[in-house]
Amino acid sequence: MSYHMTPDEFRTQGKRMIDWIADYMGSVGDYPVLSQVDPGWVQSQLPASAPLQGDPFDDVMEDVERIVMPGITHWQSPNFFAYFPANVSGPSILGDLLSSGLGVQGMIWATSPACTEVETRMLDWLVDMMGLPDSFLSTGRGGGVIQDTASSAALTALIAARERATGLTTNREGATGNLVVYTSTHTHSSLEKAVRVAGIGDAQLRAIEVDENYAMLPDAFEAQIAIDRSAGLIPIMVTGTIGTTSSNAMDPLRTIGEIAAREGIWFHVDAAMSGTAMVCPEFRHLIDGVEYADSYCFNPHKWMFTNFDCSAFFVRDRETLISSLSVLPEYLRNKATESGAVIDYRDWHIPLGRRFRALKLWFVIRHYGIEGLQHHVREHVAWARSFADRVVMHPDFELSAPLPLNLVCFRHTAGDAMNQHILDSVNGSGEMYLTHTKLDGNTVLRMSIGGTNTTELAVNQAWDRIVAVTDHAAV
Ligand code: PLP
Repeated sequence: MSYHMTPDEFRTQGKRMIDWIADYMGSVGDYPVLSQVDPGWVQSQLPASAPLQGDPFDDVMEDVERIVMPGITHWQSPNFFAYFPANVSGPSILGDLLSSGLGVQGMIWATSPACTEVETRMLDWLVDMMGLPDSFLSTGRGGGVIQDTASSAALTALIAARERATGLTTNREGATGNLVVYTSTHTHSSLEKAVRVAGIGDAQLRAIEVDENYAMLPDAFEAQIAIDRSAGLIPIMVTGTIGTTSSNAMDPLRTIGEIAAREGIWFHVDAAMSGTAMVCPEFRHLIDGVEYADSYCFNPHKWMFTNFDCSAFFVRDRETLISSLSVLPEYLRNKATESGAVIDYRDWHIPLGRRFRALKLWFVIRHYGIEGLQHHVREHVAWARSFADRVVMHPDFELSAPLPLNLVCFRHTAGDAMNQHILDSVNGSGEMYLTHTKLDGNTVLRMSIGGTNTTELAVNQAWDRIVAVTDHAAV
């Protein structure tokens, strides 16, 4: 007696599922981009308790159509311009499917050598592909690992920074309350969360002022270090961002890095979205000074056509990271680990268990090749530039921030009410999805161009829709 799905049933349903996904990929642009359901509607369609006996799979798929699909916001729509992209692609989905099919737990090398070794090779490929410093290569003292998110990468960096600064004593004794962490006022909120989780405390986080382009002011950073040191505090980490979430601002890595190196402060670089652009040599000036970074992270799961979750995290000195996080219980002891000849990625991040995420990255890189990735990144940047040109040429709109890559920050000059009206109108129509930020107190629209299915036509239509809703606006 078995309740399991047989391989033959799986084959039948699996083929239908691939067909379903392929159909969805082909029609994703036809859905209203932003889900139109009211809060609670999806739950109200689901029974209050689980079935005692299993349901036929066909019934489950019918409920997917009826209940789940109306509650989906279509991130893969060509008309999705909100937040930052969270791309998927055919090769990535297939890699993820294979990972699910193999179902390995790659917590240590011995639990699936391929899971570790493909990952190590992929992260070394990325160093080379993205023009990152050789110090991040696993063949030297550094190395890379796939984390679930940039948030986890930041937390991991912070723990390593904390341990380096306190001689590995915080691990044993707990945080002391005199450690200080630096970000800019525009750094992603994940750093603030990391400071909480790592036991540093909100009061010990210094958000440094930014310049007119929303990039960290290094002089203000340096001055704050002096104030903190004179108060007997210990600076442990600074984060520089390549492509802030709000406005895609670029912190001056070289100057921040020089200060951090002089002061012995861990330098973490968060390039979550924009890091993908480094596949194109012409954008690498944006990471000038990255060789000072102790750690660096970017998310292939944002712009590099790789399904969530896949955040590439690199360190210059893996020993510090490993000694900060390694706890070896008896039940995980094994010959390969003790030989010292293998990597056990469980010591490189917070969780023990890990999926074979490198497969999807490998499939993506092999499918597109470096040239394919460059092609799409360059297209997105070019479309963002032409969108920005239209903004500049229109008498009622203006750019609100520089455009280093693919995020256009702009606003209608009539003020916040008009910009809110634009957002409500275009999002409410279901024809596209745009989000906003606040810059210098003003509501600013963010046009984020980087989806797998984004087209030049969709970008042009988005602009036309935005202008059209302002024509008869009574705000
Ligand atoms: N850092 C930056 C600059 C981001 O833009 C984001 C998300 O948009 C993050 C970190 C957090 O990313 P994740 O969801 O991978 O934690």
